[in-house]
Amino acid sequence: MISRIHPLPAFRDNYIWTLIGDDGANACVVDPGDPAPVREFLDSRGLGLSDILITHHHHDHTGGLADLIGGYQPRVYGPAGIAGVAEALREGSRVAVLGVEFTVFEVPGHTLDHIAYYHDGSAHRDPLLFCGDTLFAAGCGRLFEGSPAQMLASLRKFTALPPATAVHCTHEYTLANLAFAVAADPDNPALRSRVESERKKREQGRPTLPSTLALELATNPFLRCGEAALAASAGSRLGRPVTDETEVFAAIRKWKDQF
Ligand code: ZN
Ligand code: FE
Repeated sequence: MISRIHPLPAFRDNYIWTLIGDDGANACVVDPGDPAPVREFLDSRGLGLSDILITHHHHDHTGGLADLIGGYQPRVYGPAGIAGVAEALREGSRVAVLGVEFTVFEVPGHTLDHIAYYHDGSAHRDPLLFCGDTLFAAGCGRLFEGSPAQMLASLRKFTALPPATAVHCTHEYTLANLAFAVAADPDNPALRSRVESERKKREQGRPTLPSTLALELATNPFLRCGEAALAASAGSRLGRPVTDETEVFAAIRKWKDQF
C-alpha cells in the first residue's frame, strides 16, 4: 500500500512523483529525469527504491534512469525502446507497485510511445492517474509526435475515469495554462474561480498538483472541445464555423502553441 505521494521538484518545473510504501522501507518514483533529488530524498529517509515507472522517452523524464538503476537496482517499467526499461508495457498491462495495482493506457500524442498509469482506488483513498506530459492541469502536452486525433483519443481514455481520480502530471504549468484557458473559454465561471485558488497555492510556494479529473473536466479547455464555447473560440481563430471536435481540438492546441 502507499502511505504518501510526494512531488519532488526537479529542473525548472518538473515533479518527480514519489510513492512511499506503508512499510516505510521502499519507494517508487515516476519519471526521474534527474537522479539527484531522488537520491537525496531516499537517502535522507533511509528508503530503498523498489520500482520506477516511466511514461515516455523525453530526457526530462528518463535522464536519471542509469544512475538510479546503478544505485538502487529497482524494477523499471515503461514503454518499449527506452534504455533501462526492463519491462515494456502496453495498453492493458498491469503493474503492481508497493502492493498497489496499476493499469496501463497507451496515450499517443505528446510522443508516440507515451503511456499512463491508473489505479482504480481499491487500495488507496482515491483513484490515481500518473499521466506524464499528456494531460496537464488546465492544459495538455504539445503534439511533438502525434496527431490531434490521436491526442484527443488519448485524453478520452482519461475522461472516462471516475471524477475523483487524482491527476498527477509531470509539470507545474498550471498558471500559464490557466491564462490560456481563460482566453479560450472566457465565460466559464469554474475557470475564474480556479485561477484564484491556484494562484494562491503558488504564492504560498505550494504545488497546484495533483488535480482531480472533476476539476479538469470543468476547466481544462482541451477536455471541453465538445462545448459550444470552445467551438466558438476555434471558429474565430480559423475564421469559419467549426463543429468537428477534432478540428476544435486541433485549432485550440495550435493557438496554445503560439499563445
Ligand atoms: Zn515530454
Ligand atoms: Fe516533460
